[in-house]
Amino acid sequence: MPLKIAILGAGISGVSLARMLGEDGHSVVVFERTERAGGLCKSRVVDGFTFDDAGGHIMFSKRADVMEWMKARCGGESGVVRTERRTRIRWHDRWIPYPFENGVGHLTKEATVDCVDGYVEAYVRRRCGEPCPESFGKWIQWRMGDGFARHFMVPYNEKIWKRDLDTMSAAWVAGRVPEAPMRDILASAVGLDTQGYGHQSVFWFPKSGGFERMVRGAVDGGRFALRCGVEVKHVRREREGFSVDGERFDLVVNTAPLPAIAAAFADLPDPIRADIEALRPISLVNVLIGVRADEPPPPLSWIYLPFPGQGPANRVTYFSNYAPGNAPHGHASYMAEVTHRGELKPDRNWALELCRGLDRAGVLAADRVVTLDWVNSEYAYIDQDLAFPARIARVREWFDASGYVTFGRFGRYEYHNSDQCIGRAMEVRKHVAELARSGGQQRLSLSEP
Ligand SMILES: Cc1cc2nc3c(=O)[nH]c(=O)nc-3n(C[C@H](O)[C@H](O)[C@H](O)COP(=O)(O)OP(=O)(O)OC[C@H]3O[C@@H](n4cnc5c(N)ncnc54)[C@H](O)[C@@H]3O)c2cc1C
Repeated sequence: MPLKIAILGAGISGVSLARMLGEDGHSVVVFERTERAGGLCKSRVVDGFTFDDAGGHIMFSKRADVMEWMKARCGGESGVVRTERRTRIRWHDRWIPYPFENGVGHLTKEATVDCVDGYVEAYVRRRCGEPCPESFGKWIQWRMGDGFARHFMVPYNEKIWKRDLDTMSAAWVAGRVPEAPMRDILASAVGLDTQGYGHQSVFWFPKSGGFERMVRGAVDGGRFALRCGVEVKHVRREREGFSVDGERFDLVVNTAPLPAIAAAFADLPDPIRADIEALRPISLVNVLIGVRADEPPPPLSWIYLPFPGQGPANRVTYFSNYAPGNAPHGHASYMAEVTHRGELKPDRNWALELCRGLDRAGVLAADRVVTLDWVNSEYAYIDQDLAFPARIARVREWFDASGYVTFGRFGRYEYHNSDQCIGRAMEVRKHVAELARSGGQQRLSLSEP
């Protein structure tokens, strides 16, 4: 039996699910607060340059079905550009291959010894049964050892997360950061090439339209209604089904950031509401930079800037390398990401100073900048303090047992990329099929994050 389904939020989570459920014959309405679909996957054109709003986005997935779905939304293989990932760390005056473990032989000899020595020590401690610590700061030492911690991991992570790493939970890295085999570390240390992160060694990007092209491809031709400019005010369970601002639905699926939508949920118990209020995002200012360029920039994908002296940006994307259409002829483009906790109020002087920092780091020539703009995303990363794992477990448990569905990067507070959001949408599609078949109220059960 087809269901009438409300989806809150039209980021990639909301629109991918809407498209799938529309294909299955359900009647779907997507409610979006802003003027158009896209969320963190939005792109924009400034002075003829195309930029992504929330920092550099690439298309990749460990899952073939998800990868195929993403490409199909961009017009298939002919609609995307394939790139071999080339990432570097600006380590003092050197360019080090990323991941850092694979570039260890490019450091000074002293730093290479520090890193290998610490890695072997940590490896032995783990093999002797030292348990995985709770805090991220201690996890870095436990997994990588003291040398890697001092020379990259700690300064880089302090720059991005803006908190003492010992007060941050390690839960998010479990399963996300693969352990580098000892042999790779040793090979890198003596100067042999190693790869690291196999599934990201190539990636794709839409030929035109920026990353948002994928969202537009999900909306265009999708059999669902998209209502933009609507801030949902009132959601509740009824005796039969649900209501959204007075309209009846069989099911409500939330993908909007939980703290941004919690006030609308009339039936949230007070302790769960308090848990949601305590969920904090880390915000991101993405600085959009267009430059005049007589020659193309080096064939890099993005670089990491771990040290405070390199300016506030932690990562710079060489965005015109992703797709030729991203910058006008004779120009190149970059995006510099700066995280903050709500306090950063960027202006032109601040952005110019950031460009001068990138000039000093050897990234671009500040006097060739022709376009300078920025976008602030309030919800970019998840602030994972030590209380986070238990807090989010309570919130997810309540939603999963309630009959509502909630998923998405901030709809479930999972540290997910868009491919994983689409993977989740595929799981929710199966859940809805089961609901429609049984006509009952089924508890939502998603795979481990
Ligand atoms: C710096 C950075 C780099 C990234 N790089 C990559 C990458 O390379 N590849 C990749 O695949 N992913 C990447 N990601 C992750 C990717 O952006 C997210 O996983 C994905 O966009 C999340 O989509 P979503 O739909 O879950 O959430 P969102 O995009 O946040 O969408 C939520 C939507 O809900 C709407 N909303 C909010 N409140 C309400 C309300 N009250 N009523 C109705 N609607 C509301 C919002 O306006 C928004 O449109 C990156 C993210 C960041 C921050």
